[in-house]
Amino acid sequence: MQKKYDVAVIGGGSVGLCTAYFLQKSGKNVVVIDKALPGSADQCSYANAGYVAPSHIIPLASPGIISKGLRWMLNPDSPFYIHPRLDWQQFKWMWTFWRSANLETVQRAIPILAALCNESANLYNVLAEDKNIGDFGLEKQGLLMLYNTEKAFAADHKIAETAIKAGVPTKLLNPQEIKETEPAFETTAVGAIYYTDDWHIRPSSLCQQLHQALAKNGVDFIEMNNSLTFEKSDGKLTKICAGENDINADEFVLASGAWTPQIAGTLGIRLPIQAGKGYSVTVKNSQPKAKVPAILTETKVAVTPYGDEIRFAGTLEFNGLNTDINPRRVRAILNAVSKYITNLDMEEAFSAQPWAGLRPCSPDGLPLIGRTEKYNNLIIAAGHAMVGITLAPVTGKIVSEIVADEKPSVELDLLQPDRF
Ligand SMILES: Cc1cc2nc3c(=O)[nH]c(=O)nc-3n(C[C@H](O)[C@H](O)[C@H](O)COP(=O)(O)OP(=O)(O)OC[C@H]3O[C@@H](n4cnc5c(N)ncnc54)[C@H](O)[C@@H]3O)c2cc1C
Repeated sequence: MQKKYDVAVIGGGSVGLCTAYFLQKSGKNVVVIDKALPGSADQCSYANAGYVAPSHIIPLASPGIISKGLRWMLNPDSPFYIHPRLDWQQFKWMWTFWRSANLETVQRAIPILAALCNESANLYNVLAEDKNIGDFGLEKQGLLMLYNTEKAFAADHKIAETAIKAGVPTKLLNPQEIKETEPAFETTAVGAIYYTDDWHIRPSSLCQQLHQALAKNGVDFIEMNNSLTFEKSDGKLTKICAGENDINADEFVLASGAWTPQIAGTLGIRLPIQAGKGYSVTVKNSQPKAKVPAILTETKVAVTPYGDEIRFAGTLEFNGLNTDINPRRVRAILNAVSKYITNLDMEEAFSAQPWAGLRPCSPDGLPLIGRTEKYNNLIIAAGHAMVGITLAPVTGKIVSEIVADEKPSVELDLLQPDRF
């Protein structure tokens, strides 16, 4: 049976589900199409570090990253790797990344990232207060950036100053103050930047709870394994072809994470998004139970406590659209933990099954949100890289505003999908 919707959202990760949520709230009749049901381990939104981090206002492409990245490339235990491939799209992405890693571009990006982060944090409160959505583990404990070397700590004072200027509540802590902030950690850190208003959630629970709430409120979910074929007419998409079950809609939203360029490519639209693989390992939190998440800054490893569980996450590996596990890099993540936090028993972590997820990375560190030039009723909501959990709610809200022809909550000029 053919059905007609106001909006078809392609992708049921955190971004697609938040988009469906705000569209449905604004009275739209919505369908979410995915290869698998929301909350599945294949999506990047499943077992990431779960930070809702308004402090993350500096894009990855920033001054100094290129030389650091080149040094890291030579070290198989480092948190960063680009697998050299004969791939024109990857080459173009790297070129744009390189061109974006300058002070001027970063300074233009910071206010927009700060505005997106602030609005998204407000919207997390809306989600948490919505009685239809079950508990997704929202904890308001802040985020500790731990430093093991005076050199790195001193160098990042500038980042703290930038955060303070952008209105992010920030404290510099000495070892004693770190201990007072998180008594459960015995750390070797010489100092920390503490972002007091960062939060964390259980990302898989967010997706599962949103899925249930949306389904209860009349949003349809359709699993489609095959590659999608669209029908078009007069510069608009009209339907997704599925034989007798064609999906007709007035508007289409591509929120398919790292796979978005693949789908857009079938429509003749080139989007510079590369998959940035990361790993996580989640184990029982049998040790003194920490509450405050921490980033082990020099190694870029994230530690997220979840009550009875604790998660270690890290690595940014550009190696195409695959979730193959590189055990050496997973071990490097776990080895880093004991170098900062000495009282965690890591034995179980080394034998646990790691998870891999693909971050949808744009080359300038800003997401792609907006209508495409080629098809006026196609909206892109992708490319959130390391902040897709943080920015999922605001992205959903903005898409609902675009669909309703309302003034968007945040200025969209720098986020246009066709900006590259
Ligand atoms: C190790 C790690 C740690 C991270 N930590 C954080 C963090 O602490 N805070 C933060 O904000 N972000 C974090 N991130 C980034 C965050 O996880 C991502 O930015 C975010 O999950 C992207 O969400 P998404 O909905 O765009 O993509 P996804 O969650 O990947 O969802 C995309 C969906 O599209 C579907 N899809 C793909 N192709 C098709 C198709 N052809 N047809 C239909 N459906 C399709 C997929 O099945 C999937 O469900 C982390 C990432 C990693 C890897």
